[in-house]
This record gives sequence, C-alpha cells and structure tokens, in this order.
Amino acid sequence: MKNSLNFKIVGSGPTGLLLSIVLSKFDCNIFLTDLLARESLINKDKTYAITHSTRKILTKFRLWEKLKPYLFGFDTLSITDSVTSSFTNLTISDLDDDISPSENIGWVVKHLDLMNVFFQEIDNYENIFFMTPYKLSNKKILFDYQFFACGANSLDKKLLDFIDLKKSYNQSCLTFKVSLRGNCKKRAYEIFRKEGPLALLPLEKNLYQVIWTSSTLKSIERLNSDKNFLMDNLLTILPEKFKLDQIIGELNIFPVSLSLNLPVLNFKNLVFVGDSFHTFHPVGGQGLNSCWRDVNTIFDLFNKKYATTKIHLKLFKFKYFSSRILDIIFTIFITDSLISIFANRNLFLFPMRKFSFLLLNNSLFIRKLILNLMTKSLIYSRIK
Ligand SMILES: Cc1cc2nc3c(=O)[nH]c(=O)nc-3n(C[C@H](O)[C@H](O)[C@H](O)COP(=O)(O)OP(=O)(O)OC[C@H]3O[C@@H](n4cnc5c(N)ncnc54)[C@H](O)[C@@H]3O)c2cc1C
Repeated sequence: MKNSLNFKIVGSGPTGLLLSIVLSKFDCNIFLTDLLARESLINKDKTYAITHSTRKILTKFRLWEKLKPYLFGFDTLSITDSVTSSFTNLTISDLDDDISPSENIGWVVKHLDLMNVFFQEIDNYENIFFMTPYKLSNKKILFDYQFFACGANSLDKKLLDFIDLKKSYNQSCLTFKVSLRGNCKKRAYEIFRKEGPLALLPLEKNLYQVIWTSSTLKSIERLNSDKNFLMDNLLTILPEKFKLDQIIGELNIFPVSLSLNLPVLNFKNLVFVGDSFHTFHPVGGQGLNSCWRDVNTIFDLFNKKYATTKIHLKLFKFKYFSSRILDIIFTIFITDSLISIFANRNLFLFPMRKFSFLLLNNSLFIRKLILNLMTKSLIYSRIK
C-alpha cells in the first residue's frame, strides 16, 4: 500500500472502532470521529450475541483473547413457537466438527465491556486519532478514503447520494436485564410470539438480557408501565419453571428495521459500513456480527492490494459491495422470513410452522444446517 494514506472513519460504535483497529495494520493515518465523547460511547446499556463467524474474525485480529474474560458462552439454544406450541433445543452436538471444540453455540457480551476493550486497543496505536467532528474539520486534512460507520439512522446516508432501501416492521424492541431463577445456566432462548420474537440472552449465572419485540405502541406502553406489572406480564410468556426476581438497570427501546444502502454510480471515495450499510431484524442476533464481516472484507481488500492506486480507490466501493452483497441478502432473507412466518397468527402458516419444528426435531441434517449457517454465516471458510 502507498505510504501514509489518510482515512476518515465517521462513527465510533463497535463497527467504526473495529474498522480503525484493523486498518491501523496498514501504513496509514486513521482519523476516527463521533458526535459522542468516549465516555458516552462506552456507557450504553446494550448487549450483543456473538457468533462463530465473529469469533474467527476477532481471533484473526488478536482481539478474541482480550475479549474472552467478558464473554458469556451458551451451549444450548431453545427455540419455541408459542402459537403452535412447538419447541426444539439446539445444542453443541449440532455444531460442525470444526467449531464444536469451542463448546459454545455463541457468546453474549455487554456493550460496555466490548467498547472498553476496543478503546484500550486503540490507545496502543499511534496512527489512530480519535477526535470530535469539529476538531477534525479544523484540521483541513485531505482524505484518501472515508468510511461511514454512523449507524442505522444517520443523516449522512441521505446526504451522500446513496440509495437507501428500507422496510419498517412497525415494531420496536424493549430491552432490559432481569435476574431469573430456575433457568439452565448456559441456555439462550428465542420465543416466537404473535406480536414478535422475545429473546433471552444469558449474561451471568442468573442474569438475562431480555429483547422483547412488539408493535412500537405496545413497546412504549410497556416502557412506561410499572415494573411489577411488566414482570407479571413477562412471567406469563416465560417457560413455567422460571422464577423472576427483579428487573435490573434501565429499560431501553430501539426501533427495528430492515435496510440496505446501495452505492450509486459515482466515484466518490467513500463507503458505508455496519448498520449504516444494512440493518436487519434483531431475531437471530445477526446485526453486529454482519457489521464486523463488512470490516473483515475491507481489511482483506486492502490486504490483497485492491486499493493501492487512485483508480483502485475509486473502484473500491464496487469491489466491497460485490464481496458483501451475497452474505447480506442471505441474512436479510433469513431474518425477514422468520418474522413473516413466525410472528403472526395466520392459520394458513400453521402447517408450515409445525412442519419446521417436526423437521428440526427429527432431522439431524436440518438442525446442523440451520444452526451452522446462523452461527458461521456464508463466509466462515473465507475468513483467513
Ligand atoms: C434491540 C436490538 C438488539 C440487538 N441485538 C444484537 C445481537 O444480539 N447481536 C448482534 O450482532 N447485533 C444486535 N443488534 C444490532 C447491533 O446493535 C447493531 O448492528 C450495531 O450496534 C451496529 O453498530 P454500528 O457501529 O454499525 O452502529 P452504532 O452502534 O449505531 O454506532 C454508530 C455511531 O455513529 C455515530 N454517528 C452518527 N452520526 C454521526 C455523524 N454525523 N458524525 C459522527 N458520528 C456519528 C453515533 O453517535 C454512534 O456512536 C441489535 C440491535 C437492536 C436494535
């Protein structure tokens, strides 16, 4: 790569931070910025489910070991369709041989721990400069390339001449932590309900993150309701053996959408990465994992010298887009199908729903296929 290119990364969420870390391996200066200060970027009450594709990417960039003390693994995934009263438990015996030694289907990490580890890593690099947008604009730097990792709702998406395709589910996610007893220690839950899926992600022995999807109106109503009422409400949904102790910390609400930001035929030196490139329904916890697969692709393209000359940089966004599109379309297809089929009470879909669980419970091939595709994604073997 040509000496000391100047890269600008707009947005310092989990995508922007990982991108700055991986690009810092090249001979370049990275100017990382965000509307929020470091403390506010770190102190968010969010939780992410991490898949095996992410484990491989973070291992490649020597971040997995650093993050490991903060990860809580789960070895069973319980999936329930409450409308047709069907259920299945996917376990580590359903994992492919190459990933089963990790003894986890996936992991859960708190946003705060993740961001702390990433910021500590960034502090080790002399070519990453984190500053406010105002300070950066005063520096009058000519950037060779700009990466927009500014999240799902950034205004930049509209201003920068890209085509933003969007489907609103008219749904929102209510998230909060609960302490629970009677649960299996390392088990995650996905419960499909008429109003939308409810996920329980294990954070510690008796602590779970609840991600409760329903119509935006209903979510706001629940957000404003009394905590005891909310707990009673939740208890009617959870498996019978559960005992709910209390809600811990704050309640948050996030809008849910499916979106894809397409590049138009211009040769501006900029691309969108992470949630500003694509968003999915949170069912299956694919969002951040696919953001980091974008980052991995950008690294690979630079590493394979697809961005060494001015012409290469002009064409970079098309190379990036074509490398990512299959995985993104696949994730859109899976998450959107799950919602279309399992988040309603449509009688015509009952046979298909029953049959899906019949297959899952009786065919090892189908169990393996579904679980490994979800956790490894389409590109696992290409992460090197
Ligand atoms: C309820 C819910 C549950 C989820 N659960 C999971 C899960 O279990 N697993 C998973 O993988 N994913 C999950 N996701 C998805 C995940 O949260 C996102 O994919 C991820 O946060 C995207 O990270 P990002 O860095 O791309 O964007 P963000 O985290 O949104 O960061 C964008 C950053 O850009 C900054 N910014 C915006 N505009 C500007 C500007 N003009 N200038 C400078 N800075 C700017 C913002 O301040 C922000 O810090 C979930 C999402 C939701 C809503």
